[in-house]
Amino acid sequence: MKIAKVELYHVQIPLEKTFYPTWIPGYPQTHNSFTLVRLETKCGIEGWSAGAAMGREREGLGDLIGGYLIGLDPEDIPTANQRLKEASYLGWRNYWIEPAFWDIVGKSKGKPVYELLGGSARPVETYISTGEMRDPAQRAEQLLEMAERGFKTAKLRVKNIELKDDIRHVETVASRVSGKLIMGVDANQGWLVTIMARMPAWTHERAYEFAVACARNNFRWLEEPLDSRDYDGLAALRAKKTGVRLAGAELNYGWDETKVMIEKGCLDAYQPDSTFCGISQAKRTLDACREKGLDFSPHTWTNGIGLIINMHLWLADAERNLPLEYPLEEPSWIPRWRDGIQESPILPDSEGRLAPPTEPGLGLRIDPAKLRRYGRRFFKMTELGLKFKVVREKGVSEAVKLAKQKKQLELES
Ligand SMILES: [Mg+2]
Repeated sequence: MKIAKVELYHVQIPLEKTFYPTWIPGYPQTHNSFTLVRLETKCGIEGWSAGAAMGREREGLGDLIGGYLIGLDPEDIPTANQRLKEASYLGWRNYWIEPAFWDIVGKSKGKPVYELLGGSARPVETYISTGEMRDPAQRAEQLLEMAERGFKTAKLRVKNIELKDDIRHVETVASRVSGKLIMGVDANQGWLVTIMARMPAWTHERAYEFAVACARNNFRWLEEPLDSRDYDGLAALRAKKTGVRLAGAELNYGWDETKVMIEKGCLDAYQPDSTFCGISQAKRTLDACREKGLDFSPHTWTNGIGLIINMHLWLADAERNLPLEYPLEEPSWIPRWRDGIQESPILPDSEGRLAPPTEPGLGLRIDPAKLRRYGRRFFKMTELGLKFKVVREKGVSEAVKLAKQKKQLELES
């Protein structure tokens, strides 16, 4: 098999209500934006994936990535990863494209991707992942209503200027939902964005005080209390055994970083995201977590495609059963807009569980009409198109030489 066509789309789904993510304090998010990739093999198998975006910042990416992807054997995922790495040396991280290769492999073998990763179909336990910081009493009421709907676990966000307000937030919510919901909390200190509001980066002392307050209020886990590259700080905090489990690593740069974090003992639970680091690297982290007795639950807060892709990683983990992140912030970040170009929204059952995808590959069902409505294709390249590009840029004799060289490489491999 060979990749014969690459297409890239900007997708921008307007939200009906503005969403205020705690990870970009002060920023009004009005759209669900991402870049969509569609790969197609010579025999017509398609592979999809999506990379979270602020807008159209990947406009020129096709020019770079097209030549790396055309002609690749989609079943040779290590080489695909190597090419994506090569195409990122000067900037952009490109591993978000890698799940599209797994999609093709699954379809060609007639198996869902989680089966290729050693997992099997079972109901997916979820936790509600909220995205805004609201008045704590109001939040508690809303979470109690979610518990009625069948959710068993929920995650809060804190992002106050002062520590005492963060502590009051978790105390107020915990006092009202105690016994009804298992709670986690995300400090979103891992990768601070302060362009719209000046929020303080937590010191080690503040992270410690907050962790102690979480333990006192029976919070099961605390996410990203320090910069995600402050490995020594995280390891020191964990060594203090505050009683709350530390989680993170969503935007750390793949296995290269999580390997070091595991060696240093930074976290109790690792949350890589396959739409940031690729499925292969997230799986390596999962395997290492199993070996070391650590917890694993992929990060999913990007869009509905990212939720499905990471669900395969969750299903690959047969031994540990931390729930899967289910991004939900009513009335703005809701399934209809989160999953906006998929045939139907991903909805939990009355127990807060999701049905596992059963189709071969990733099981993404992209609705062509919705894609036309919210997406714009900004790049398309075929094998022939790549040949023309090379002739145009390098001249005929150089292009012929390059074609021979590539053929030779293919014969040798
Ligand atoms: Mg997080």
